[in-house]
Amino acid sequence: MNSFSVSPAKAMSRLGTETAFEVLVKARALEAQGKHIVHLEIGEPDFDTPANISESAIKALREGWTHYGPSPGLPDLRSAIAEYVSKTRNIDVHPDEVVVTPGGKPIIFFPILALIDPGDEVIYPNPGFPIYESMINFVGGKAVPLKISEEKNFTFDINELKSKISSKTKLVIINSPANPTGGVFSKQDIQDIVDIVKQYNCYIMSDEIYSRIMYGYEHHSIASLPGMKERTIILDGFSKTYAMTGWRAGYGVMPRDLAGMVSKLQTNSNSCVNSFVQRACIDALKGPQDSVEAMVKEFQKRRDFIVDGLNKIKGFSCKKPLGAFYVFPNITGTGMDSKKLADYLLNEGGVAALSGTAFGEFGQGYLRFSYANSVENIAMALERITKAMEKI
Ligand code: PLP
Repeated sequence: MNSFSVSPAKAMSRLGTETAFEVLVKARALEAQGKHIVHLEIGEPDFDTPANISESAIKALREGWTHYGPSPGLPDLRSAIAEYVSKTRNIDVHPDEVVVTPGGKPIIFFPILALIDPGDEVIYPNPGFPIYESMINFVGGKAVPLKISEEKNFTFDINELKSKISSKTKLVIINSPANPTGGVFSKQDIQDIVDIVKQYNCYIMSDEIYSRIMYGYEHHSIASLPGMKERTIILDGFSKTYAMTGWRAGYGVMPRDLAGMVSKLQTNSNSCVNSFVQRACIDALKGPQDSVEAMVKEFQKRRDFIVDGLNKIKGFSCKKPLGAFYVFPNITGTGMDSKKLADYLLNEGGVAALSGTAFGEFGQGYLRFSYANSVENIAMALERITKAMEKI
């Protein structure tokens, strides 16, 4: 008998995950058995990274940008980000307030590690990106869900925020445009949030990773409102805007002292982001933006196509989202549980989607489809779902 057995840290039992990666593994296993699957589960643009950005990374490699850089990011990139965020959010950002990270995700991980003690409360959107709840629980914080509802056009009831925020709240997380719903906060929604949070001693984490993927609406950042930059952590990055998910490049903009703590956590973990990747990110921000515009235009076409198609399927009802590249149809009309329906569509229909509950308890009654796939594949998925639903 093996006598070696070391139990993991208790915190590990509280760490969640991102179901999209698990469904991808299941879908790949079915493909290995010869089944054809249409992938609408994973949240990444199916476009290539624009050529000028890839060329810039190749050039940087040739020039020798292959060594460690400063933990918070290369000075030129921090300046470029400060300039970009200052312009797009109409605020004055100093490069010292910027930390470059491997993807946007560490801007959830590090500030939560830096700010939350056991018992501190964090308000977060539910359904929402699962890493928020996972990280709050991991550090022993109290995760306080704020229900995102279809009736509120995939925003939330401001009275619920009023009733949940308290002196114990250390952080409020918001996300617009949102994953998984595609919901977008209006200027008034943001003002309503500010009016409440300003009465409390808490930070706001504003996940704006989809801020460039919007359909005919303007993005409003909470950091733009008077007095809010001082208490806001903006999460943004290159993954979605420039189809750079695999490059792992993102950033946070936050008050200087917190930026210092996040940078220190980075020194203790990944040291810094790849130097040649950071050089390419400068060109992403400063170079031509036409490929972003073309991608968003194409996404809009696909959004309209998938929404129309889903609304024709018995038991499905789908609102048209204003941003990101997800649809979140209500499937209560099918009479099925969300997880069971997602499993059924994968195994019987050959369509990989996510259960709304992968994004929290209030996702029950919904599925999430990513429309970062070709119109042909989306059409095939819609046909397959229609047929699978007829069999029930
Ligand atoms: N925030 C939201 C809402 C997301 O959907 C994602 C990725 O899916 C991220 C953050 C993380 O992005 P990145 O791949 O840059 O780490």
